[in-house]
Amino acid sequence: MEHWDIYDANKRKTGRTMERNDWNMQPGDFHLTVLGVIERSDRTFLITKRAEDKSWAPGAWEIPGGGVRAGEESREAVIRELFEETGIDVTGAPGRCLFTYRRINPEEKDNYFVDVYRFRIDVDESDVRLLDGETTDFKFADINEIKELSQNETFLHYDSIKHAFEGDENILIKGGHIVNPSDGTDKRGDLWISDGKIVHPFSFKHEETDRIIEAKGYVVMPGFIDLHCHLRDPGQTEKETIETGCMAAAKGGFTSIFAMPNTKPVSDGAGCVSYTLDKAAASSRVHVYQTGAVTKGQEGKEAADYDAMVTEGMITMSEDGKSLMDSGLMRYALEYCAKNDILMCSHCEDINLVEGGVMNADENSQRLGLKGITNAVEDVITYRDIELAKETGAKLHLCHVSTKGAVEMIRRAKSEGVRLTAEVTPHHFSLCSDDIPGDDANFKMNPPLRSKEDLEALREGLRSGIIDAIATDHAPHTAKEKQGSFNDAPFGITGFETAACLAWTKLVEPGIISALDMARLMSFNPARIAGIPGGTLDVGQDADVVIMDVNTPFVIDPETFLSKGKNTPFGGMKVRGKVISVIIGGEVVCDEYED
Ligand SMILES: [Zn+2]
Ligand SMILES: [Zn+2]
Repeated sequence: MEHWDIYDANKRKTGRTMERNDWNMQPGDFHLTVLGVIERSDRTFLITKRAEDKSWAPGAWEIPGGGVRAGEESREAVIRELFEETGIDVTGAPGRCLFTYRRINPEEKDNYFVDVYRFRIDVDESDVRLLDGETTDFKFADINEIKELSQNETFLHYDSIKHAFEGDENILIKGGHIVNPSDGTDKRGDLWISDGKIVHPFSFKHEETDRIIEAKGYVVMPGFIDLHCHLRDPGQTEKETIETGCMAAAKGGFTSIFAMPNTKPVSDGAGCVSYTLDKAAASSRVHVYQTGAVTKGQEGKEAADYDAMVTEGMITMSEDGKSLMDSGLMRYALEYCAKNDILMCSHCEDINLVEGGVMNADENSQRLGLKGITNAVEDVITYRDIELAKETGAKLHLCHVSTKGAVEMIRRAKSEGVRLTAEVTPHHFSLCSDDIPGDDANFKMNPPLRSKEDLEALREGLRSGIIDAIATDHAPHTAKEKQGSFNDAPFGITGFETAACLAWTKLVEPGIISALDMARLMSFNPARIAGIPGGTLDVGQDADVVIMDVNTPFVIDPETFLSKGKNTPFGGMKVRGKVISVIIGGEVVCDEYED
């Protein structure tokens, strides 16, 4: 018996499979059991179930758990079962969603007729309630290529289903400024995508082009990869969820992201990595990776359960949000990382030196009457972690580098051959403490906006290649939390949806870095630092692509963010470098967002 992978409507593997059934089948056909569709404002789920019963009668209700039920069965019960069976979480969905329950009538060999029943259901946090049930017309527009023949009858043919499931859209991106850091391409040209991959024009099926994206005047880069973000899920879903975080990431041009583990509870052991991966797979095509905590509960006392997390797919470790102050335990963790090829991402902050500081310690903190955070807070731990990486041979990645001292230490350590990489955030290369207008908590982040001198050192580090990556440190908070003053508000700003335009406007336009450097810093290098696919437009690679309009100026408006977090100091800033289209695995997931 062959097994088929089941995909959600975003064509991402759900991890479930169905068996191929030989009942009334020709070679190449398969027994599709589509149970239903959940349409939400942002996406559609196609619910399928593996066929277990070969004697399954045409026209019968196919329901989870096997067996046949007549139409008079309680619809609420059937729907509830479907939700439980598929594990699709519809709680928290905006407003109402439509649930479409279908039955398959495969009387003809090639033509499967499907009756479509559509129910309107109400979704709230805890319950799925059927409001009314009706048989209506059904349009498959949201599920790609499956053709609607007539009312209540839908033609499902193997090829069209396969097409819809496998994402073999043929896309031609025409006349863009192609920037490919892996071979140095930096010129006008075309990009061909077929079967989810970037292909050579000779193997592109030109006569079957599904979509042509006119990219004249646009920059085409490999999808961005963010080594550092906070999705706040589980535990703080009022700030962000994995789903809204992925939507915001995609809108910002990110096709792969790494979620930091300072969730509630902390992501520190069995189940936490699969929680994130499963939830991400069910709601988005963005590739999501979960970074595991270094210590249990991030309490700094006891090593987290590394083996359990590695088994679930963890490849990066971090205590982000703070530093692990116990140097002995940090060395133990780095030894584990070295043995198991895990990347340690280090947030450098000696908590004993912070003393209630909320912004950079300089004349601006004096001006505002706020307690300062000195450069030594970061530099002391930066030095320690570099030394420990040297000693253990572990791969160390320094998060959100903000001081000129750290840049200098990184330069020196790299020249000595330490396995060291480093990231800088868009806010740290865009702003310095002079830019803080007053007691506005949208300018409060950790590490803080540093001095002009530090800012210049970071830009020089990005230009020279001492700094390897740009990472967002996307840290959404609620508006209420950020309304408070600098002293009371939490640290952090939302970052996915401003990273690309800030990199373009603050670094590429003034000539500090080239477009090719930007793709290296945001795509190519992050992929190699973490050891994941992506970051390239090479033939044969997955088609994760971002297209940007770098000519039309626009004003950053936090109200247009898909992230729940609107906390940004960049609202109202005029920039260029708008992400207009994002393709993940050959599928266009974002297209010309209208503001
Ligand atoms: Zn941090
Ligand atoms: Zn962080």
